[in-house]
Amino acid sequence: GAAEAEYDVVVLGGGPGGYSAAFAAADQGLKTAIIERYATLGGVCLNVGCIPSKALLHNAAVMDEVKHLAANGIKFAEPEIDIDMLRGYKEKVIGKLTTGLAGMAKARKVDVIRGNAQFISANHFEVTETTGTGKDETANKKVVAFKNAIIAAGSRVTQLPFIPQDPRIVDSTGALELKAVPEKMLIIGGGIIGLEMGTVYSTLGARLDVVEMMDGLMQGADRDLVKVWQKMNEYRFDNIMLNTKTVGVEAKEDGIYVTFEGAKAPTEPQRYDLVLVAAGRQPNGLLIGADKAGVAVTERGFINVDKTQRTNVPHIYAIGDIVGQPMLAHKAVHEGHVAAENCAGHKAFFDARVIPGVAYTDPEVAWVGVTEEIAKRDGIKITKSVFPWAASGRAIANGRDEGFTKLIFDAETGLIIGGGIVGTHAGDMIGEICLAIEMGCDAEDIGKTIHPHPTLGESIGMAAEVALGVCTDLP
Ligand code: FAD
Repeated sequence: GAAEAEYDVVVLGGGPGGYSAAFAAADQGLKTAIIERYATLGGVCLNVGCIPSKALLHNAAVMDEVKHLAANGIKFAEPEIDIDMLRGYKEKVIGKLTTGLAGMAKARKVDVIRGNAQFISANHFEVTETTGTGKDETANKKVVAFKNAIIAAGSRVTQLPFIPQDPRIVDSTGALELKAVPEKMLIIGGGIIGLEMGTVYSTLGARLDVVEMMDGLMQGADRDLVKVWQKMNEYRFDNIMLNTKTVGVEAKEDGIYVTFEGAKAPTEPQRYDLVLVAAGRQPNGLLIGADKAGVAVTERGFINVDKTQRTNVPHIYAIGDIVGQPMLAHKAVHEGHVAAENCAGHKAFFDARVIPGVAYTDPEVAWVGVTEEIAKRDGIKITKSVFPWAASGRAIANGRDEGFTKLIFDAETGLIIGGGIVGTHAGDMIGEICLAIEMGCDAEDIGKTIHPHPTLGESIGMAAEVALGVCTDLP
């Protein structure tokens, strides 16, 4: 059909990558549209990811924190949990943010086209209007023409073939719906998403088991950081099954029965009230008709891009989860800005030195750049310095001194190349280490920067002073 509208830039997908790219393109004066199948902007992150999980985790963290106060002489009664209100709070948080995004799109005159998009050529999408649920398609189709396209179609939960359909078996989206608190819950996959959701359910009263194929939980983070988290969280778990495979899941009337395989795996099937499948996410590259535009997609559904975020088709860009790991919102946003700049004819590159990772558990675990694990694997010579929070006045005052801050320096240049923090608010603090790495700081730059006392963030300056051999004399 004849094109109804022609845009300088059409962004496929309204997640953090997509809306950031669209807003940046519009700010450059380009006529821009976003095509999104759901009723709201924000994608996985805002609707069923980062934000709702943190809304629930915040409540869980406060509940857990209050328990710590008992040791200081302040005891509260057992909490009364109104799960409908808690769910309502989470919905309100999402609503505020999606409404904000809609306003930002409007203010920039970015058209938001609701529907399922498929490429039909290297310059056209066909959009089938949806009613907002993402699936419920109507018969209304239209063609949207573009000079540049930015693919930001994201990722979806990886389905395991042997897992039956049952309301007691959920993925992260189902877990965030928070229908009820089960007595006994199994988490399949000991990564960040599984452990964050597990934290919420456990604080609300569930007993947890976790099964992980690798030899440790929270892969990617250095083991010394994870160890601190694990010690503080062991009470939540009946069984942490490492090096273990889930080989069978059977839905029976009285529960979900799961069979495991591994040297230390239980020999009998185990019974659960709720099973959370958090065994990874896969990209949506094979679902958008990319071949019609000549855009190359890997067998697994990833779209390869160069440093300008261009695919093999120069006027078609790709960003976010669909271009590869790490699948994180802040990476998607940064890539979106790069793509938009290039659409506007500027020369922009994705040249971030490091991308931080955070598990918003209790305590939080945050890391960035070269970890000790990476250094060992790649033969990078490093020196590290650690500041234990047992020597931090603020951490002790908070009654939470289990954490530590670690800085990793290049042994030859002395420049900081990585860091890790485990402790409360670690995620809020890791940004300083990211900045130090981007700015090419050495231990002196960080250690001689006056940090506010007494703060947890001060531990970063202290760790640098440890590296300098300076006495860290503030209690
Ligand atoms: P997405 O957010 O996946 O958005 C893609 C959008 O494209 C979707 O809205 C989809 O509906 C739309 N779309 C796809 N195909 C089509 C089509 N054919 N037509 C129309 N529309 C289409 N990351 C963090 O950085 N911090 C966190 O704390 C964090 N927590 C998370 C917690 C959970 C439970 C989950 C699941 C993820 C979490 N993530 C977190 C990851 C984060 O959500 C993703 O990295 C981020 O959303 C990726 O953004 P994106 O723009 O690439 O794609």
